[in-house]
Amino acid sequence: MTTLGTPLSPSATRVMLLGAGELGKEVLIALQRLGVETIAVDRYEHAPGQQVAHHARTIAMSDPAALRALIEAERPHLVVPEIEAIATPMLQELEAAGVVRVIPTARAARLTMDREGIRRLAAETLGLPTSPYRFCDSLAELQAAIDGADGMPGVGYPCIVKPVMSSSGKGQSKVDGPADVRTAWDYAMAGGRVAHGRVIVEGFVDFDYEITQLTVRALGADGRVHTHFCDPIGHVQVAGDYVESWQPHPMHPAALDRARAIAKAITDDLGGQGLFGVELFVKGEQVWFSEVSPRPHDTGMVTMTTQWQNEFELHARAILGLPVDTALKSAGASAVIYGGVDAKGIVFDGVDAALALPGVELRLFGKPESFVKRRMGVALARAADVETARLIAKDAAARVNPRAA
Ligand code: AMP
Repeated sequence: MTTLGTPLSPSATRVMLLGAGELGKEVLIALQRLGVETIAVDRYEHAPGQQVAHHARTIAMSDPAALRALIEAERPHLVVPEIEAIATPMLQELEAAGVVRVIPTARAARLTMDREGIRRLAAETLGLPTSPYRFCDSLAELQAAIDGADGMPGVGYPCIVKPVMSSSGKGQSKVDGPADVRTAWDYAMAGGRVAHGRVIVEGFVDFDYEITQLTVRALGADGRVHTHFCDPIGHVQVAGDYVESWQPHPMHPAALDRARAIAKAITDDLGGQGLFGVELFVKGEQVWFSEVSPRPHDTGMVTMTTQWQNEFELHARAILGLPVDTALKSAGASAVIYGGVDAKGIVFDGVDAALALPGVELRLFGKPESFVKRRMGVALARAADVETARLIAKDAAARVNPRAA
């Protein structure tokens, strides 16, 4: 049985979000609706989620001492990581000491913190199909990994080089031939989250399409964890960053079965309760595992218009031990609204024109500072089919014009 308390009272159920961007903001709103007391933590002030939480805290979450001090001072019932760049070994320590429960588990947060932990788990421990890959610590190692060395076959061309510590395409580039290798290495060194020169080089998968399989581990009436699947989400990535997504993405039944078997295997291993975004590449009936987020996924923002319970509500319910329903409500699509300018306190023209389109909703995240390529909002559209929804969502996003105030 789950019992929830009253916020700002001794009975409160207290949840701390580590990372309070646009995804954390929606999780916080879902928790607020259930009367949960929320603490939003980010590395900068006035982060989107901090604007809707009971308490806002600003610390360097990658600093283990600062993280420990904050958790010990606040004593939340649950700690919910929303980003990767967190001192996850400290979370493991606190979880092991019984100080706090980490969602879905501190181990899952650590393994998904960089590309190496999760790739080795998926490919080497669980034997899931992935692109061929190698990890390299220098330009010379990268070249050898592509060409092959010591009897080991290389990943060959084309391939993709990514910093081990990075997300959203930062520092990631495609290598079509020998002339691109040095540029890709230098780009990865500049784009990684921390200044240590490790990259993954992956053979290029010539997929037909890629999907996010949102997967929820939630308690059932029998008190056990059950796995629930949302309809597949299709998406388009530009330079490794999501620009458009839609749901449901039509799939061959055999490919869908494989996708869900892979999602089940990886989420079973990561364990705990919560929603996961499993990223998969699909070609015909073949499916490759790419990545997993043990939390809501950016491409899943579309579920704010397509599902009865969006991915943020599903996460909130699952972590609190409540039942979930992953049913689809309507076909729909999302399109990202980028800042387009480097400026603080920007304004958005055209919101009225965007909302005049049929079945359209907007989320403007309220980020205090805009960058040309920073995600500042998203347009959502419901329609009879995904093709129509995609057109409307893109039109709506294009009607919103961010500019310096
Ligand atoms: P990631 O940051 O690993 O999620 O990569 C971002 C995007 O780059 C993916 O969603 C794909 O569109 C593309 N991508 C990454 N790895 C590969 C690969 N091995 N083969 C083909 N495309 C890839």
